[in-house]
Amino acid sequence: MTTSPKVITTVAELKAWRKTVVGRVGFVPTMGALHEGHATLLRESRKQSEISVLSIFVNPTQFSPSEDLAKYPRTLERDLEVAAREGVDIVFAPTPIEIYPPGFSTYVEETAVSLPLCGAFRSGHFRGVTTVVLKLFHLVRPEVAFFGLKDAQQFFVLSKMVKDLELDIRVQGIPTVRETDGLALSSRNVYLSSEERKKAPRLYQVLQALKDAISQIQVSSQSTTQASQKIQKELTQAKRVLEDSGFRVQYLDYLVLPDFQLLLSQNLSPSQLGDQPALIALAAYLGNTRLIDNILIHPKKLNLD
Ligand code: AMP
Repeated sequence: MTTSPKVITTVAELKAWRKTVVGRVGFVPTMGALHEGHATLLRESRKQSEISVLSIFVNPTQFSPSEDLAKYPRTLERDLEVAAREGVDIVFAPTPIEIYPPGFSTYVEETAVSLPLCGAFRSGHFRGVTTVVLKLFHLVRPEVAFFGLKDAQQFFVLSKMVKDLELDIRVQGIPTVRETDGLALSSRNVYLSSEERKKAPRLYQVLQALKDAISQIQVSSQSTTQASQKIQKELTQAKRVLEDSGFRVQYLDYLVLPDFQLLLSQNLSPSQLGDQPALIALAAYLGNTRLIDNILIHPKKLNLD
């Protein structure tokens, strides 16, 4: 049996509710248009907490003026059905003015992990993400919050914020949920034409092939410099393959985790190279739709939860 969650739309009501809560709170922040990826986060929250909170807020400060804020899918009725099915207790669905009232002028910024990849191409994006998530954390005051590794850089930026600001919140990264053909689930997949949809799984195929090639390079290279050169060559080739299949690649990079350094700037011995946790991340346009995906190397060595 499913029970409907309580829907809260104002900050005042959420604060009043929070004062009454006793028990462990789990939190899943989203922009709505929920799919099985979000549902997986909600199930984990339900499993690990007594009270499960979902926020649905299409956060204007993480979109740049040229991005898709106005046409971002909004499907609240269906989202509430998913929330009910996944045992959510509270849905917080504020309007932009609730979160950013007139005169709002305080922002929080992470200044290292947020710089490469999406940070280099989406000006102000992570500043918008950290600001809204910190505000939501203050309002919901969860013990644990769940984020998808589909947005790996976002997860590492938020983990850094939690660490740097000493927030008593555990952030847990949940592996990317995919369609059977490998395409990462995303609210933006609805923008794809049927032809683009057929091409889209190529992204993950290329990432998997790169992962195999790079793992091999890590094991067999004598030095970081040699590994770095070989990896660079693989990335260039993979980029060409994608461009030839009709993608416009924005970035395809390999970064050492958890600090997001390029391999060459790491002072690693050959024996450390072989099992260094790393991320291969890519953003590419298919027509007008921007898709991101990534693959982790040696994720077990990271503290994702
Ligand atoms: P969004 O609504 O796109 O901002 O995403 C809300 C949360 O769901 C973020 O933590 C995302 O990383 C996560 N998420 C989105 N897509 C997926 C997916 N395919 N697998 C796992 N988590 C996801």
